[in-house]
Amino acid sequence: MDDTMTTAVAIADAVRSGTTSAAAVLDSHLARIEADEAEIHAFNLVLADEARTRAGEIDALVANGEDPGPLAGVPVALKDNLCTRGIPTTCSSKILGDWAPPYDATVVTRLRDAGAVFVGKTNLDEFAMGSSTENSAFGPTRNPRDTSRVPGGSSGGSAAAVAAGFAPLSLGSDTGGSIRQPAALCGTVGVKPTYGAVSRLGLIAFGSSLDQIGPFATTVDDAALALETISGHDPADSTSIEQPPLDLRSVLDRGVDGLRVGRITDLPTGASPDVQARLDAAFDALAEAGAEIVDVEVPAFGYGLTAYYLIAPAEASSNLARFDGVRFGHRVNAADTNQMYMATRTDGFGAEVKRRIMLGTYALSAGYYDAYYGRAQKVRRLIARDFAGAYAKADVLLTPASPTVAFEIGDKSSDPLAMYLCDTYTIPSNLSGDPGMSVPFGTGDGGLPVGVQVLAPALADATMFRVAAELEHHGGGS
Ligand code: GLN
Repeated sequence: MDDTMTTAVAIADAVRSGTTSAAAVLDSHLARIEADEAEIHAFNLVLADEARTRAGEIDALVANGEDPGPLAGVPVALKDNLCTRGIPTTCSSKILGDWAPPYDATVVTRLRDAGAVFVGKTNLDEFAMGSSTENSAFGPTRNPRDTSRVPGGSSGGSAAAVAAGFAPLSLGSDTGGSIRQPAALCGTVGVKPTYGAVSRLGLIAFGSSLDQIGPFATTVDDAALALETISGHDPADSTSIEQPPLDLRSVLDRGVDGLRVGRITDLPTGASPDVQARLDAAFDALAEAGAEIVDVEVPAFGYGLTAYYLIAPAEASSNLARFDGVRFGHRVNAADTNQMYMATRTDGFGAEVKRRIMLGTYALSAGYYDAYYGRAQKVRRLIARDFAGAYAKADVLLTPASPTVAFEIGDKSSDPLAMYLCDTYTIPSNLSGDPGMSVPFGTGDGGLPVGVQVLAPALADATMFRVAAELEHHGGGS
């Protein structure tokens, strides 16, 4: 059996029952990494030794008659903006140097406690700012489906790791689409849960009111297992919802009979015809499965992108102030403290991060605050209100996850606005705090994967998963 093509659910079952060992599962994944990582560059760091030690511990537990947990022996890749104690966490930025966090992110602790084996830290656009993983200080990641193309971003390394068979599960973060868009481009499942459903403790902040951690997987069931494991209240994150872990896997086979699936009639245009055709096919598949397709309007949807590019940079400009050459790894020495700050930040941050800091600082500055940041917050309210109106008529909404299939490396890297437009369909649910996920649904131009996005109201993650499971069941064809 080639374990690199096995699901997390199957691996955990086999390890728990002793029919395979965590060490053997790990070996086949490390062999796959050994063979293909030089070309893909999904990882900033492969944790082969640590993973071997951990796999040995899992196997010892099983040999002792103990249960290592629901993710027993499952290899997992972690986006390199998630803190791992004693292990460098770079955000794919020079400015963190060789800094290693003194603590683990809550999601890391929860996965480890469930028996997961961490295989590495994955590449991203610097500080999660981008849609192609080309903004990494360590070079781009390539799309395993076509290595001349981007994997999407910012969690491109995590999406590529799963698509390449380096790990059946990975975690990413999604501030404006950074899980769903790379999932769509690499042909994996990718989930942004309800804001507050997953603890952000130990996720290096980009836009704190937008950031959520979520899984990548090859199946909807695996994504559900991962999200059940990492969700649930964390008193150490003040924005964590006081709720038990999400209950998702128990609803996956319920079908969609009687569910109302909304088609947004005033959705911003821009989706390419091949992507639009897959979206239409998804509506047809759900109608055939017994869902009722209803027309809804979300008039403020199209203002999401503009509002996001004021709110996210504003929050980023504040969050990134802590990288000053004093508290973290990288420092450029200079004559006095102010010059040291300036030299460190000038050298340590890449162009896109500097652009966001400048945009955000401007949007928050005296005299412009009401005109930019204040207005963007009002638009955010309108988007939430419009979604609420749509969800009064529909249980879920369907949109493209990305306007196009994966584009060529270099295609958009000199045009920030073209890059920003990748997130037209994903950003609004970050602004409203609602969940969204991308499910592979066939292929488009060039035989490349297309993702359909399922959106649901806050805390209706389970309904969203039901619809995703139905779409997966239909397979998508092409
Ligand atoms: N591509 C968007 C941006 O550059 C979203 C990034 C994200 O979700 N982290 O801001």
